[in-house]
Amino acid sequence: MEAINRGDGILRLSFFFFFTMSSSRVFVSSTILFVLLYATCSGAFQSKATIFRLSRTISKATAAAVPSRTLASMSMSTNSNGNGESIQTKKIGVIGGGAAGLATARAFLRENELNQNTQYYVTVLESRDSIGGIWKYEDQTKTEKNRPMYRNLRTNLPKELMAYRELPWGSDGEASYVTHKDVLEYLEAYANKFDLLKCISFGSSVKQLTVLDDEQISLEWTTNTGENGNVETHKETFDNVCVCNGHYARPAIPRLEGLDTFHGNIIHAIEYDNAQPYAGKTVLCVGAKPSGLDISREIGLVAKHVYLSDSACDKMQTFGNVSLMPRMQSVDENGGVHFSSPRSAEEHVADDIDAIVFCSGYDYDFPFINDESNLELQFTPGERRVQPLYEQTWHARCPSVSFIGIPHSIVPFPLCEIQAAAIVSQTRQQINGIPLPCLSDRLAAASEDAASGGPNGARVQETHNLASHQWDFCRKLAKISGDYDDEMEKFIATNKAIYDRSGKERKSMIPGGDDVYRETRFRRDDENQSYEILYTGTKSTV
Ligand SMILES: Cc1cc2nc3c(=O)[nH]c(=O)nc-3n(C[C@H](O)[C@H](O)[C@H](O)COP(=O)(O)OP(=O)(O)OC[C@H]3O[C@@H](n4cnc5c(N)ncnc54)[C@H](O)[C@@H]3O)c2cc1C
Repeated sequence: MEAINRGDGILRLSFFFFFTMSSSRVFVSSTILFVLLYATCSGAFQSKATIFRLSRTISKATAAAVPSRTLASMSMSTNSNGNGESIQTKKIGVIGGGAAGLATARAFLRENELNQNTQYYVTVLESRDSIGGIWKYEDQTKTEKNRPMYRNLRTNLPKELMAYRELPWGSDGEASYVTHKDVLEYLEAYANKFDLLKCISFGSSVKQLTVLDDEQISLEWTTNTGENGNVETHKETFDNVCVCNGHYARPAIPRLEGLDTFHGNIIHAIEYDNAQPYAGKTVLCVGAKPSGLDISREIGLVAKHVYLSDSACDKMQTFGNVSLMPRMQSVDENGGVHFSSPRSAEEHVADDIDAIVFCSGYDYDFPFINDESNLELQFTPGERRVQPLYEQTWHARCPSVSFIGIPHSIVPFPLCEIQAAAIVSQTRQQINGIPLPCLSDRLAAASEDAASGGPNGARVQETHNLASHQWDFCRKLAKISGDYDDEMEKFIATNKAIYDRSGKERKSMIPGGDDVYRETRFRRDDENQSYEILYTGTKSTV
């Protein structure tokens, strides 16, 4: 961290220029600086982050030539502004430009607008060439499909709930359950409104995160140069790194006896695009969470028969051409698939299955965090648990590394927004909300959380399953950031009211049955912590 006059890249460059010119050994550097200064003044560099990066590069380039006392005095001379106040500058690295990464970038840039004492320079490293993360659907039917978004997906939450607090969705009265294209457009509108694109570096794939001894964090990433598939490696050091890489990239498939002998086609939902390949076939979908329910319904429209297996089911039940089955246990030597529940003596065998689609979720994965990272982070495949995390957000030992969007069974956009604000609050010189507790308390809380299986106190796999606890989680984080007030309470309570209503409607859906809940249209009523229903589907079962 270093102190300079507030956000004044031009002034900073002037100082460099002046001092550099006084050293005859660095005439070339001075010339470069002059050009940069001119470009800056003439508006060629739109972003402060760009100026900051350039000045950093130049300060490194000139460091060898300028005596260290001169550098120190430069630093002192830029230490205070006209009012004698010092300005903190911090470099923030954000990994990922999906919904979580955008909310995080916005939270830091917002702070630049509000806080006179700290200046953040935010760099979002996004491996793809666009924002939006999973919401950017690409037709991959002719290539290997490795993205979870599929062609006909509509949201399973109403848009009135999915909005960030800073940008209500608009299009009041239109469909509440929207397409992936609508969500991507919303995220693009958010990025444009808050001018986030200026700090995103596209095509930048983070390969290594390393915590350095002085708690600075180094990130190493690659970019394609576009020539002969050449790759360039970059390395930079940050004061804080926010990990927003999502958790829908590493498919989880249960290990089941005999599965490798199954004669038919097996895929994970990440490879699913549309139902056409299953026309006339008998298909098993494993997992009846939102994706499993949607995919089995889509396939059911064209398939001969669909089995939908879920561990919550005790007894086979058939609705039209979809049979809800207990947990899939094994595949026998004849290709028969066995289903049973520990709560029932019944066993079912289906020997007519042509294909299996595993809708069995994803494991957390951080390919850039490893033994060299100097950051103990456990995320064992199959456990679906990341530890040690304080409040599911900060690395308990090294809170300069934080994780946004780890909780699941939640409303991701607003929760990420609240999480991001809490993270920002802890990097301020003066914390308005609640400072994080000391190291030993953070570690104790993190280990209790990880051992108890999260707020639901269930299996380790449920550690990040917040569900009905998400509202108190949001309140807690909003208190940490100092943002908790009547308006925030109304926002959270309204979200809860809509979430409960839409969840009740969704859960009343018959497997493979009509998608009626998606016809409901909501209007928020934050003042009364409630909502209006503008339209409902004709066959609603609530
Ligand atoms: C099928 C499906 C349906 C869903 N439906 C809904 C819904 O209806 N409503 C809802 O609110 N939520 C839904 N979700 C949850 C959804 O994941 C969240 O809404 C949200 O998009 C998560 O955003 P994210 O930024 O955490 O992750 P992602 O969207 O996955 O974004 C992560 C970003 O990080 C980038 N990245 C990853 N690794 C690196 C790296 N090493 N270097 C640089 N960049 C990297 C990726 O390219 C990506 O752009 C759904 C999820 C799935 C899978």
